Amino acid sequence: MPIGEFSLIEQCFVSKAMHQHKHTVITNGDDASVHNLPSNHELVVSTDTAVQGVHWPHDFPLEKAADRAVCASLSDLAAMGADACWAWVSVIAEHKEALQSMGQGVTNALNRYEVELSGGDTVHAALNSLNITVAGILDKGTAMQRNKANIGDKVWFLGQAGLAALGLQQWLNGEKDGEFISHFSDVFPKIQQGRVLRELGVRCCIDVSDGIVQDANHIAKASNVLMELDVEEFPNWQSLREELGTDKAMQVMLSGGEDYGLLFTAPTDMEGLDALATCVGVSLQGSGVKVQYKGEDVQLVKSGYDHFAV
Ligand code: ADP
Ligand code: MG
Repeated sequence: MPIGEFSLIEQCFVSKAMHQHKHTVITNGDDASVHNLPSNHELVVSTDTAVQGVHWPHDFPLEKAADRAVCASLSDLAAMGADACWAWVSVIAEHKEALQSMGQGVTNALNRYEVELSGGDTVHAALNSLNITVAGILDKGTAMQRNKANIGDKVWFLGQAGLAALGLQQWLNGEKDGEFISHFSDVFPKIQQGRVLRELGVRCCIDVSDGIVQDANHIAKASNVLMELDVEEFPNWQSLREELGTDKAMQVMLSGGEDYGLLFTAPTDMEGLDALATCVGVSLQGSGVKVQYKGEDVQLVKSGYDHFAV
């Protein structure tokens, strides 16, 4: 008898998932999972879709694509400052081999971050894609948000900017062993760091998935402030400039996306941040994002990724 849907789910996903969270009451395998919450905690939930040919190139390894899709979802929990606990993964696969590869990538990532696979759905159709829902917990009332920047706050960045976009460009240009490709394929959600920031008292944070300027603009809009950023303060600016020249480096660093660093703001007197992140600017009265390079305003060709931009 050929191997069917339920055996494949078991083989590709369920049997490979290693963690059951202590606050799970009923785990994967029933019609739904059931969880309880410790008192004085809140549930944090995020969902993301990743589609072959849109979020990763057609010839990119599926296992890696699925791994990075899970990590990109976990990055949203990091931005809120939550501990990652659970994931639900709905997969569309072209064939069994694709399902196997995506199952391997999904479970590799979840096992690495000790996140439970609490459920999912599996569909056979003419494309490969994943929808990943993740949930975590944090102390009541402490979630970091986009609308909590204050005028006079410093703006901080934790991570690297531009390298993943560069890696993707290398892959698309046929340089399959280019030196930046691992920055695209290996996403590191800053879960631990997000938690530390929240515990230090940071209240305003976003994860940078679509490009620094575009994501800084989300904070600017939600908080009703002007985010002023200085190109030369970004940690990997110099090396990027040496690699690409000033103009291209600026474009890739500020609007490249895919890096999954954390951009956050904090009052000037908050201690302990220097060890974790780099101060890249300041939050001022006004609106939007202003980027400066050697005292001059920078004009970008494009601020970040937009699925519906023409
Ligand atoms: P239902 O018909 O109740 O929606 P399904 O047939 O979709 O259930 O799935 C059967 C069980 O297998 C469910 O418990 C579901 O959570 C699990 N499951 C299906 N696909 C996946 C997947 N990709 N990863 C993890 N669990 C899965
Ligand atoms: Mg179902």
